[in-house]
Amino acid sequence: MVSNCRTYAIANQKGGVAKTTTVASLATAWSELGLRVLAVDLDPQACLTFSLGLDPDALELSIHDVLLGRVPARMVIQPVAEGPHVLPATIDLAGTEAMLLTRTGREYALRRALEDLHDDYDLIALDCAPSLGVLTINALTAADEVIVPLQCETLSHRGVGQLLDTVYDVQRLTNPELHVLGVLPTLYDGRTNHSRAVLADVAMRYGLDVIDPPIPRSVRFAEAPAVGRSILRTAPSTPGALAYRVLARRLAGVTVPADESVYPSVAVVEAATTGSAGAAGPGTPMANVGERQ
Ligand code: ADP
Ligand code: MG
Repeated sequence: MVSNCRTYAIANQKGGVAKTTTVASLATAWSELGLRVLAVDLDPQACLTFSLGLDPDALELSIHDVLLGRVPARMVIQPVAEGPHVLPATIDLAGTEAMLLTRTGREYALRRALEDLHDDYDLIALDCAPSLGVLTINALTAADEVIVPLQCETLSHRGVGQLLDTVYDVQRLTNPELHVLGVLPTLYDGRTNHSRAVLADVAMRYGLDVIDPPIPRSVRFAEAPAVGRSILRTAPSTPGALAYRVLARRLAGVTVPADESVYPSVAVVEAATTGSAGAAGPGTPMANVGERQ
């Protein structure tokens, strides 16, 4: 039976580009839509685990044990107040890569673990570590789509080529079905020519689509992880939260907003996120990721 579960890897080996924020926000927004969601923490720093309200230090079992084949993922997954289920990480994950290195089929460890869960979830989001090591290759091997969050500042493009080389290797060797959805502008300030120029440069240089809507920069984002809540709860009507809701709806192919105040139209978000409409300037496609009908 073919499952409808879609798996998104959020990857960029640069730290601080909002990978974890994106996974936490999308997972929360998808849950609000009534979808069954699993958020997977693949970073030994366990920021996703923490920011969704679990204490990594108090966990007996984690994704480390799953990747090493010691326990099934179901034994480790926990529901959280924000709505999604979480496959949590602990600092043990720092040792997983070394332990996997001697194993045949190490790239497939996550894929194998998640395959059993495809009937249980509509969407799975993978929060990658800031590296291109075995854990990120596991994520890319397990994913249908990869989203590359990008902070639009000078030198942002450095590393994108390397990430894409890794993606091409994965497509060739372990996951021919992997598709690059595009770059997601995060911490975006559409008012500055600089952000727009950086975005246009990266999109052109690497032939990547730019995912719409961009996620505007907002100080309110910094507050959410500390209290184990998503931005969608701590600051539900900020432009950033609205943008993540629109993105979540598009990625899930949900077209009918149940309540416009909670699920605003794209126009509302674009009005709120200064200059986001056509923000990349003339000649640069702002890819609409496609509201599937
Ligand atoms: P990564 O997982 O790529 O390392 P994080 O999601 O942890 O990045 O984000 C890095 C920092 O940036 C965090 O402090 C987070 O709160 C902050 N941040 C994320 N998105 C935004 C945003 N749109 N506006 C302002 N700050 C943000
Ligand atoms: Mg992170």
